[in-house]
Amino acid sequence: MSKRILITGAAGFLGSHLCDKFIAEGYEVIGMDNLITGDLKNIEHLFGDENFVFHTHDVTNFVHIPGKLDYILHFASPASPIDYLKIPIQTLKVGSLGTHNLLGLAKEKNARILIASTSEIYGDPLVHPQTEDYYGNVNTIGPRGVYDEAKRFQESITMAYHRFHGLETRIVRIFNTYGPRMRLNDGRVIPAFIGQALRGEDLTVFGNGSQTRSFCFVDDQIEGIYKLLLSDYVEPINIGNPYEISIKDFAEEIIKLTGTHQKIIYKPLPQDDPMQRQPDIRKAKQILNWEPKVNRADGMKKTYKYFKSLTPEELTKKDHKDFSNHIRK
Ligand code: UDP
Repeated sequence: MSKRILITGAAGFLGSHLCDKFIAEGYEVIGMDNLITGDLKNIEHLFGDENFVFHTHDVTNFVHIPGKLDYILHFASPASPIDYLKIPIQTLKVGSLGTHNLLGLAKEKNARILIASTSEIYGDPLVHPQTEDYYGNVNTIGPRGVYDEAKRFQESITMAYHRFHGLETRIVRIFNTYGPRMRLNDGRVIPAFIGQALRGEDLTVFGNGSQTRSFCFVDDQIEGIYKLLLSDYVEPINIGNPYEISIKDFAEEIIKLTGTHQKIIYKPLPQDDPMQRQPDIRKAKQILNWEPKVNRADGMKKTYKYFKSLTPEELTKKDHKDFSNHIRK
């Protein structure tokens, strides 16, 4: 009998790729999303598949799944700085109340649960590269605090369920990941730069562009998560690509990749924007026998191809996500 897995955030960037992966591996997949930041377009190709069902549901409310459940992947959350600035309360709730509901469901079903944590729990890190034993440098009351603290709480409650109830839990700390199905106007740097290049706009580098990031292609990220779920390792593991680049150099790479004639312009650095970020992936290598395989040039080519395939309407819409029902007037 095939294994049954619940994936929350199924219509999002990582969630939709996880649905594809587990369908391909022969699982029965239950996708769940409230569609605030997710988009059904990311999973509509799965709708005819007999092993896939989808429920529109907000996991901050009680989650009921009839029948057995072997695994839960909790990937529901706004995940870009612009999103969590616009919907801060939902961001806090899905990481805290949503996680609590899903841990309760996992306990009820005797299922193993993997939760999506983030490099943001390290804040603006004072240790470089970031090892899993670094506790982080987070501003609790800053604009990013709603995401960072929700994710820190999420890790904490997950470990409490593991220790107190003996629940089988896994925690992945995801570093910047990119690829097809990223939302064009979610404000993250890769869709921002590619969208600007495709629309013939200048590329907006925040600050002086000396801040660094390390970008992991989505296929590598999904493989790492898959291996972690099936491993017996309980403590958090970094999954990301350690190949680090400054945002200014990255903007120049995108100018070359897209052949745009636009230039780089500089805008103020957002508050608490981390100055550097690079995963230490020694644990993932040792414990999961995982490391990223796709180099940035190849991953970016695939990503650019995806964005080029969007319609002119999709490309010019400022943001196809309408948060108006969720924003306090
Ligand atoms: N960034 C930028 N221009 C943009 C969007 C982002 O220079 O149009 C910078 C941002 O300030 C940050 C980096 O790119 O230093 C990565 O931002 P992103 O929002 O992708 O993710 P983060 O790693 O900050 O969560």
